Amino acid sequence: VTEHLLKILIIGDGNVGKSSFVHRYVNGQFNKTYKMTVGVDFSVKLLNWSEKEKVRLQLWDIAGQERFISMTRIYYKGALGCVVMFDVTSSSSFLNCRLWKQDLDNKAMLLNGDSIPCILLANKCDLTQRVVSADSINRFSKANGFVTWMETSVKENKNVEQAMRRLVQEILSV
Ligand code: GDP
Repeated sequence: VTEHLLKILIIGDGNVGKSSFVHRYVNGQFNKTYKMTVGVDFSVKLLNWSEKEKVRLQLWDIAGQERFISMTRIYYKGALGCVVMFDVTSSSSFLNCRLWKQDLDNKAMLLNGDSIPCILLANKCDLTQRVVSADSINRFSKANGFVTWMETSVKENKNVEQAMRRLVQEILSV
């Protein structure tokens, strides 16, 4: 059995749902009372990917970011995949995805020089006051080199597992 160790980054503006996403994915829960980590930290999730492959995911969540801040190279070091998340009720969090993706592409690449597989997540799709259209997300995703994009609701547990499975699949195929 092969075990893959995959470092995955979760980036995006503050308050879009990054910590909730990791918490939901790793612990299967959505609640508002868990203790927020301060600074950079990672959570671990083990997957039985196939009969011959296990995957150990290290999910690095930048906690406590209120707005876009260029990250240090150390944070990106060794990352093999990335989630860029925004909140569909916040147009600024969507616009900032460009900066997050650029920062990533400037500082992190695979050994062969390619950019790291990155998935774009449009979170809080359970809310009715959405201001970012599927059409603009689609165009943005294609223009900026994302593997794909998905709507998620961490609150309603929609597409959380699916998004991570899609990303892992992409990482293992490169
Ligand atoms: P972070 O700063 O990006 O890590 O965001 P948090 O995980 O702290 O989430 C910010 C707020 O959004 C919290 O109050 C969460 O409960 C809430 N939240 C996260 N995901 C969702 C979602 O899918 N739907 C709704 N309605 N609220 C969410």
